[in-house]
Amino acid sequence: MWESVIGLEIHVQLKTQSKIFSSASTNFGAEQNTQACAIDLGLPGVLPVLNEEAVKMAIKFGIAVGANIENNSVFARKNYFYPDLPKGYQISQYEIPIVSNGSVNIDIDKKVKKIRITRAHLEEDAGKSIHDLYENESAIDLNRAGTPLIEIVSEPDLSNAEEAVKYLKYIHSLVRYLDISDGNMQEGSFRCDANISLKKSNSSELGIRAEIKNINSFKFVEQAINYEIQRQGEILDSGKSVIQETRLFDPIRNETRSMRSKEEANDYRYFPDPDLLPVSISNSLIENIKLNMPELPNEKKERFIKQYKLTDYDTSILVLDKDLSAYYEKVLEKTSLNPKTTANWIITELLSYANKSNTGVKNYPVNFEDLASLLTYIHDGLISNKQAKIIFEKMWNNGEKPQDIIEKEGIKQISDTMEINKLVDNVIKNHYKSVEEYLAGKDKLFGFFVGEVMKESKGKANPKIVNQLLKEKLRNDK
Ligand code: ADP
Ligand code: MG
Repeated sequence: MWESVIGLEIHVQLKTQSKIFSSASTNFGAEQNTQACAIDLGLPGVLPVLNEEAVKMAIKFGIAVGANIENNSVFARKNYFYPDLPKGYQISQYEIPIVSNGSVNIDIDKKVKKIRITRAHLEEDAGKSIHDLYENESAIDLNRAGTPLIEIVSEPDLSNAEEAVKYLKYIHSLVRYLDISDGNMQEGSFRCDANISLKKSNSSELGIRAEIKNINSFKFVEQAINYEIQRQGEILDSGKSVIQETRLFDPIRNETRSMRSKEEANDYRYFPDPDLLPVSISNSLIENIKLNMPELPNEKKERFIKQYKLTDYDTSILVLDKDLSAYYEKVLEKTSLNPKTTANWIITELLSYANKSNTGVKNYPVNFEDLASLLTYIHDGLISNKQAKIIFEKMWNNGEKPQDIIEKEGIKQISDTMEINKLVDNVIKNHYKSVEEYLAGKDKLFGFFVGEVMKESKGKANPKIVNQLLKEKLRNDK
């Protein structure tokens, strides 16, 4: 009866060296309150100076989502008081954002859905309140104050938690492809507010929304949205109405809680910042950035499907993570194994180890050269696929090289036809009864003979050659 409607506001920290309006460092993890300068704190008598890099990164994003890039966007002061904002206002963009009217396409149930991006504006991050350092006291770390952000605001085009997470993952992937953010969610470089409302099915009028603030993991976004849909559904079912408010998600109790009633834009008394000129962007700068755009996730996806004959599913997994797709292509360059089987190896074997240990591509204990050698050994028939899996486990756990493991443990596959011939002869001799049955038409027994030869070889015989020799011999016996 109720249909959920979701819009996301995503905050992305840009990976500039210095802050958006000052030369203070943006490095994460420095000692508290050592990286906020007088400008970040808004002390009297200082003037902000716009960081050109941040502007270029925002333009890059705008181009990637096919948006309008504003030639003269305006910085505004958003006035509010909070301990982590000692200036009393945040410099943001309000009426004229740098990026507007873009969109991205995401895959939902094998269909492409277009999610419209209303706007993306530049702003400064606030400091951070820390509540778990001292008992009964909160601490403020202002290092983050002034870190450049783009806030990406979507239209309410998302229909459920699954779509919202897909969209969020796509934007996460995109900003990493564009190299404008490290996307580190634990460190807060990528976080989002989820706006959720319910409306009557078939009604075009949107319902009253709740906004869940500052969610910093894909799983929490999914849980928070599903919790809200449930909560609002119960309220509406009982004939009451949802209150427009800002809520917090508590991952421990898996619920959202009211934080404050939702503020309206006029509460913030926005006005153009008198310390900053409009951001003047020439068309030639935009053109120049356009010419130097990297390959985007959707483009890479199309290329992988065409060039490597991969399935849609395989490609989506490889392409979502820019580093993983680069790893795959580096393995391909070095191995003789075909692209499809190589992709299978990465998706089923390597990723299962990586996911279990939560290891990112940069920290894989198996480098692309070693994986490429391992796969080439399979291709050359030196080892079987099964043996390769055992070797890979050792490579992953102990960082050993495949050639060393093979040598040390003598796990080479037997591909010598003479040697396998002997084994085949033995099996035929020792199972003459079964051979007679087979020759009389019991075809199923063929697998039994293969199994016996493999057993005799302790699993080392090349199964292709075993099959081939057995077929020849048994045919001759016929
Ligand atoms: P703010 O939250 O700052 O007041 P907006 O009103 O522009 O800003 O909305 C922010 C986000 O909320 C956007 O992503 C928008 O799509 C989404 N949104 C607006 N109205 C609704 C609604 N009724 N239900 C769900 N999402 C909504
Ligand atoms: Mg909002």
